[in-house]
Amino acid sequence: MPGEPAFGRVLLKLSGEALLGRLEYGTDPERIERIARQVAAVAGRGVEVSVVVGAGNIYRGLEGAAKGMDRATADYMGMLATVLNALTLQDALEKAGAHTRVMSAISVTEVAEPYIRRRAMRHLEKGRIVIFAAGTGNPFFTTDTAAALRALEIRAEAILMAKHGVEGVYDADPSEVADAQFLPEITHREAIERGLRVMDSTALSLCMDNRLPIYVFNMADEQNVDRIISGERVGTLVSADVDRQPAPQGS
Ligand code: UDP
Repeated sequence: MPGEPAFGRVLLKLSGEALLGRLEYGTDPERIERIARQVAAVAGRGVEVSVVVGAGNIYRGLEGAAKGMDRATADYMGMLATVLNALTLQDALEKAGAHTRVMSAISVTEVAEPYIRRRAMRHLEKGRIVIFAAGTGNPFFTTDTAAALRALEIRAEAILMAKHGVEGVYDADPSEVADAQFLPEITHREAIERGLRVMDSTALSLCMDNRLPIYVFNMADEQNVDRIISGERVGTLVSADVDRQPAPQGS
């Protein structure tokens, strides 16, 4: 029997890539089903769970802008793409037995509720998984920033930052540098100063200023979300203070 969860309320950030599975574009139904099962199980343990979902599997504003499109227009397209992912995830979560609400930062009232902070918190209190769609609702931002913003607004105790294919944060990109070192604990400040790939710098600054911990972990391991919720140390913890062992004498 799992023990008491270590958290009461968390926000899970899923990037669009997390939904790709083996595909190059779009959403892998098997992958989304597996994610939904894990998330629903955590909610089933009585933890209040919210999710911010990205759209890299469908569209990135910067890619549109690179092809000559107006950046703001391209970003709005990116935000709409996150709504598609949010609905896909909602469907999968409900199939896994969870109660859910999608709340969107841009109005798409036929398919999702508008984002209203106090209502989001009420949904969570009632045990519904709340999926935040359309990022922050503003161009020039990312869904990482939306994750930081919403987590702070709803007073989540931590952001669970799902990665695929990596265990957490490294001192260099492990896909490019063979001996990249895994970092089990770092501060927000270190991550910003060393340009480590946790989330983008706007999002990271927001977390740093508000001392919001981020657990960066590999979503490919199906036990990881549950482990973090149980208080096990998995992946990299990015926090305001790191408990470092004292340096050996004479060093
Ligand atoms: N986006 C935006 N404002 C936001 C969130 C997202 O303009 O607050 C747009 C932006 O174009 C971004 C796209 O939506 O490229 C998809 O989000 P993101 O790249 O963060 O998705 P992820 O990398 O998590 O899959």
